Parts: sequence; structure tokens; C-alpha cells
Amino acid sequence: MKILIKRGRLIDPSQNLDIVGDLLIEEGRIVGWERNIEISEKVELIWAEGLWILPGLVDIHVHLRDPGEEWKEDITSGTLAALYGGVLRVACMPNTKPPNDTPEVTNYIIKKAQEKGWVKVLPIACITKNQEGKELTEFGRLKRSGAVALSDDGRWVQNSELMKRALHYAKNFDLPVISHCEDHSLTEGGQVNQGKMSAKLGLKEIPAMAEVIGVIRDLLLAKDTNYPVHLAHISSKEVLPFLRWAKEEGIPFTAETCPHYFTLTEKEVENYNTLAKVNPPLRGEEDVYAIKQALKEGIIEVISSDHAPHSELEKKVEFEWASFGMLGLQTLFPLSLNLVREEILSPLKLAEYLILNPSKILKIEPPSFKSNVLAEVILVSPYEKYILTEDLIKSKSKNTPFLNQELQGRVKKVILKDKIYDL
Ligand SMILES: [Zn+2]
Ligand SMILES: [Zn+2]
Repeated sequence: MKILIKRGRLIDPSQNLDIVGDLLIEEGRIVGWERNIEISEKVELIWAEGLWILPGLVDIHVHLRDPGEEWKEDITSGTLAALYGGVLRVACMPNTKPPNDTPEVTNYIIKKAQEKGWVKVLPIACITKNQEGKELTEFGRLKRSGAVALSDDGRWVQNSELMKRALHYAKNFDLPVISHCEDHSLTEGGQVNQGKMSAKLGLKEIPAMAEVIGVIRDLLLAKDTNYPVHLAHISSKEVLPFLRWAKEEGIPFTAETCPHYFTLTEKEVENYNTLAKVNPPLRGEEDVYAIKQALKEGIIEVISSDHAPHSELEKKVEFEWASFGMLGLQTLFPLSLNLVREEILSPLKLAEYLILNPSKILKIEPPSFKSNVLAEVILVSPYEKYILTEDLIKSKSKNTPFLNQELQGRVKKVILKDKIYDL
């Protein structure tokens, strides 16, 4: 079958491409793009005037909760939410139950994703056994079974000597290392950002300093081992001068943030709204501004969702007892699109942050419009406004502060290999 997409805005960061033109797909593979493609044979014609055509998004930071917490999400529901969000490759974090610290769990995830998943799943394995920060996992075996990266996300590897060794070994196996930067000795029992809101609500605070210390230590270890560290979900303005310093020093690192850190402030947790309880916590207005500037500057060059489903069991409870995290797969694109509307990023730059850069970090070929690659194509309306109702959310959980809010920017169609999904 041939599919011809006509007159869409083709945006492919791997080729620095941003033109209005046509894209031809045959038997699940990209044939190529031109300003105008005319063919006489029978084709499935998709008229795409006013739509953006992008390679599928690559989300480097997702919690699928499978195995072990399938009442919140599982590989099927999580990858369906991904499909609806235009995310065609999902890197999933290892803090499942049991955690992904053995080839058995990695194999389980890969097999289930192949059998019951909607999009490609790339498992991230633990740095340390049971994420306890005591003993390293077996990097070589994990890589051979299909793990694409290492992380103890949710926990920081507090022991510096162990993290240094982790970077050394990861280098031997060419496995990317993703760090959740948080000095736990400063955040024990913490609930919200240290500042106005923690004082007002009388909740134990999480200081930005905990993130800063985590980042500085990891940058120093990256320098010492000469092996890059990927810094997950940067949230606070205090981190940014150190990232600039590290760039100047030539320290190998990359940094990511998530839409909630450039969209929402700690004001959201007023009234003890557990849907806005995340870790790291939502910060102040100045942080939101600074994160946007860092994206503009390119010092932060990846946007991930940190999709973290929780059911009402974990969220409809007192604030102190509520779990950290919010959904993100279906809001990743519309919220990130605000950066284009605010002229912080060009559409091409945004695509780079959502597709190309996460692929580079994971050392995978990015989805693209190059000829002969597998078709992973999304068609999005950047202008369409809609309300994010419960019905639209494909996750098993509904924990997002954007529930029943208006979003702008919607994935309309996905072409994945030889399948076309009308969303
Ligand atoms: Zn984390
Ligand atoms: Zn996470």
C-alpha cells in the first residue's frame, strides 16, 4: 500500500527540514519527501493542509507501572496513551514492582510490549539492585537483554563512589546513564517546594538545593569519568548557572525538563491539590521563566513527560500521603507547543527536543523522513483547541491537573509502519 501525505508542513529535525510539501510512504517505509509528489497509481491520499507532519516523538522518561502496579497503568494502556500523544517510542523507567534490575524483568517488558503494546517500548534498567543505592546491577547482561539505559529514577544514587563506578562501567557497555538529582538527606518527608507555599500550607519542604547538589555532584563525576550523565527533570533556576558552567568546561552532559516545569507553578498545590504533587516539586514563577530561557538557550535540550500514573487510591488522600507524579504522555505535545506560541522555540527546535535529542542520548536512530526508514509519522493540528476530558485520557489513571482544562495542539493521525490510526 502507498500512502501520500499532501501539502503538510514537514518538520524533520534529523534533516533540518521544515517545508510545506508531500511525504510518500510505501509498505510501511518512508519513500521520501518533495515539495510536490505526483503519482498516477492508486494511493491512499491524506490531505494535510494546515497540519504539521512530524516523525514520532521519543519520550525518554515514562513510568508504565508494569510489572506490579497494573491498576495504575500497564504496558497496553500506557502505550495507547503514548500513541494518542504522538509518542511512538517510550523509554520506561525501572521503578516497577519488582524493579527492572534483572534481565528477566527487561525481557518481560520487551515481550509484553511486542505482544500487547501499541508503540515501541525501550526499557531502562536500574543502576543499583532494587534501587537501593548499594550494589550495582549487571550492566552487561541487562544491555544484552535489551535495556537501552540505566537509571534509579525516583531515587538518586546518593553514594558518590558507587555512582562514579556506575559511570565507569556504563562507559564500558556504552549505556546511557540518567540521573534523578535529589540529595535525599535534604528532602526526607518533603512535600512541596520550599517557599511561600510550604509556609502557607504548613507542609514539609523540598529545597531547590537538593536538586542543585545532585546536579553538581553528577557533573563532577561526568567530568572525572569523562562519560556523559543525562540529568532528568530539571525544575529549578538555581541549577542553571551550574549547567552553563559545565558547558563552558566541556563536561559531557545533557539535561531534560518536563512540560509541568515550564507551565505550572507551586500555586497549583494551593488547596492541597494532590494532582499537582510531583517530584521534583512545582517551583516559583521565576523558575518557570528561567527554565524557558534555558530551553531557548539550549542548555536544556530535551523535553520528556515524566508520565507518572497514579490511581485515586494514591491521589484521593491527604496531601502528605499522596504519591508524587502526574500523567504526561497526552499533554507532552500540546503543552510543549506553547513554547512555539511564545516564540521560545521554533517548530524545528521543538521537534529536535522531542525527537532527535532524546534519540541521540539513547543512542538509537531517530524516527525521521529519510528514505527507507520505518514509517513513524504523526499528523498534528497545532491550532485545534479542545478540553482534556476523562474520556480522552487513554491511561488507566486520570491524575493530571490539566483534566477538564483547555489544551491547544492535537495529534490527529498516526502512521506507524503500515497502519493508519485516526485519533
Ligand atoms: Zn525522577
Ligand atoms: Zn520519573
